[in-house]
Parts: sequence; structure tokens; C-alpha cells
Amino acid sequence: GRVTTADHAEATTASSELREEYAALVDEVARHQVAYHQKDSPLISDAQYDQLIHRLRTIEADHPELASADSPTQQVGGAPSEAFAPVTHLRRMYSLEDLFSASELRTWYDRASASLQEQRPGEQPRWLVELKIDGLAISLLYRHGELVWAATRGDGTTGEDVTHNVRTIADIPHHLTGDNHPEELEVRGEIFMPSEAFEAFNQTLIDAGKTPLANPRNAAAGSIRQKDPRKTAQRPLSMFVHGIGARSGFEPTSQHHAYEALAEWGLPVSPYTAILDSFEEILDYLETYERKRHELVHEIDGVVIKVDDFAQQRSLGHTSRVPRWAAAYKYPPEEVATRLLDIREHV
Ligand code: NAD
Repeated sequence: GRVTTADHAEATTASSELREEYAALVDEVARHQVAYHQKDSPLISDAQYDQLIHRLRTIEADHPELASADSPTQQVGGAPSEAFAPVTHLRRMYSLEDLFSASELRTWYDRASASLQEQRPGEQPRWLVELKIDGLAISLLYRHGELVWAATRGDGTTGEDVTHNVRTIADIPHHLTGDNHPEELEVRGEIFMPSEAFEAFNQTLIDAGKTPLANPRNAAAGSIRQKDPRKTAQRPLSMFVHGIGARSGFEPTSQHHAYEALAEWGLPVSPYTAILDSFEEILDYLETYERKRHELVHEIDGVVIKVDDFAQQRSLGHTSRVPRWAAAYKYPPEEVATRLLDIREHV
């Protein structure tokens, strides 16, 4: 069920049949976005959802006249729930472009490299590579070192105020340690339920005769979006930072410089991050962590590849939905068990 070329061969003009399929798909995807993002209870697997989105993108690529600005393919996540107060992010939060094969990754890598070569001749990009944590995106606003609010990503512009719940997470400092705190700083990261804690927590639910949680991602999302912070406090949650948004009085020159400063201020930084120089090294990283996938602190659904240098990131910029300087390589769903170890044969 991965990317197939057959999808492209099917249609050249939008028949009424295709229009109907498209309209039905849009409705179906919208329904799954509400179930996943707002209710934290998906009705289908992520792999099944990704197939629906992929089919939508294929139709839109072949028939741009069908695509509208409010197509689910143009949105970041779902609308924020009205159960929480809205928070407007100082800087927009983005999603990530998904890549489903080594050849899609190669195409993305070559395009980003060529575009940088053109815009910033002579500069050699370095790639900051991280695990794609299967959790919930969060934005933390610190002013002069004090946590002011915590918000979910929502639709990227407006998130949900979950400050009270986030304050119960031990990993997230209420006051930054050290000194030289920026006047203002948005810290972006992923809240997750560590795999072991998830197993143990589910066991307590089973022992109490309750329904266990579907997976750590939904467990994290459901825990953060509780009405009562005392409930969140009972859930074993952690966080790793994976970016920064607005800042003033803080001028790091690269993603890894930013992480170094955040670590000094007591924010949790992932131990799995690497800075790499070539496509081959990125493939090695993908293979290594696909093998180690179940030995990690948290669940992952892929690897995120980012241009490290901030000036280079700015040169590449964003689309309305995703940065052009980063992408997410998704591991094949495990049920299907495609062997990534053969990845080089497909580049
Ligand atoms: P995404 O999860 O593919 O990628 C973007 C997100 O990755 C970021 O917002 C960030 O929160 C997260 N992330 C994790 N580690 C990161 C790192 N190291 N650096 C940067 N970001 C990192 O995209 P999405 O827009 O959040 O949602 C799509 C995902 O949700 C897909 O996996 C999809 O399958 C799933 N989904 C499933 C259903 C369903 O019904 N099962 C419905 C909607 C969405």
C-alpha cells in the first residue's frame, strides 16, 4: 500500500466519477482528522490514513482544478477544540512533508541541496537528523525564563491552552535554569508517553477493569487534553524539544546551537540527534534506528531530516503547510514489514 505509480496513470481529465471520489475522500479525511486531532481517538491506523491522504494528493496533482485552499492536504492538523481557550502562536507551527521511500527522500534531498546551491553558492549544508517522536506537538512560551503558557499546535496558527496540564510534567521547567534567558522564546517539542511507562500505565487500566489506551501517541494526546490537570499529573509524560519559534534576545545560528542553549537552560533535548554530511550517512541513520526502534525511550514513526543552519533554513523558507528545509521519512508500517535494510536497492 505504499506510493504506487498506478495512481498517476488512471486519469487525465476529471471525470464525474473522479469528482465524486474526490469529494467523498475529502469528507472521509476530514472525519478522520476530527477523530484523531480533536477527540484523540482515531478510527483507522495511521498507515491507512496516510494512504487516503496520498490518494488525495495524487488526484490534486493530476487535477489542480479540484483542489481548494481548504482541502485537508493544505491544512496543518485540525481546528483547535473549543473545550480549551485559544492561544495564538507568536510564530506559526508547521507540519512536515512526508516521504515514504528512499527514492522520495533522495528526490527531496537533491531538490533542497540544489536550491541551496543556487541561493547560497559554495555553502555545504549539514543535516541535523532526529527521530520522529510519535507524540503531540507542543509550544512553550518563556518570558525572561518563566513559563507563560503551553499550547497545542491546533491548526498551526491557533492552538489550545493546555498550560495547567503541561505544568504537571516534571521534565518541563517552570523556570529556566542558568542565566542569559531570552526576553521571549517559543520552544517547540513533542510530548510523549515513554514506551515502558505506557505499558505499565495500560496494565494498571487493565487491572482496574478499564479499557487500555490504543497507543502511546493517543495516550500522550489524551493526557494533555484533559479538563482536570490532576488527571494529567497521574500520567507518565515526557518531552523532547525539536525546534524554536519566536525569540527575542536569543540569536542562535543553527538548530544545534539552539538545542545546546536549551539544554543549558534545563529543557529536555533528545539524545538521538545527529549532524550528518551526506545522503549515505542519512541512510545509515535510518537503518540504525529502524533496527533499534523498539529499544528507544519513546515510539517513533520515522526520522526527521533538517537543514541545520538557520540562514540556510531561511533561504529555503516554507510552504503554507510545511518547511522546505525539513522533511519526515516515515518507516513502513510494521504490519507490512517491508525491509528497510534493502533500502539502497530502491534509491
Ligand atoms: P506528522 O506527524 O507527519 O509530522 C509533523 C509533526 O511531527 C510535527 O508537528 C511534530 O509535532 C512532529 N515531530 C515529531 N518529532 C519531530 C522532530 N524531531 N522534529 C520536528 N517535528 C517532529 O504530521 P501531522 O500533521 O502532525 O499529522 C499527520 C500524522 O497524524 C500522520 O502520521 C497521520 O497518519 C496521523 N493521522 C492519523 C489519523 C488517523 O485517523 N489515524 C488522522 C489524522 C492524522
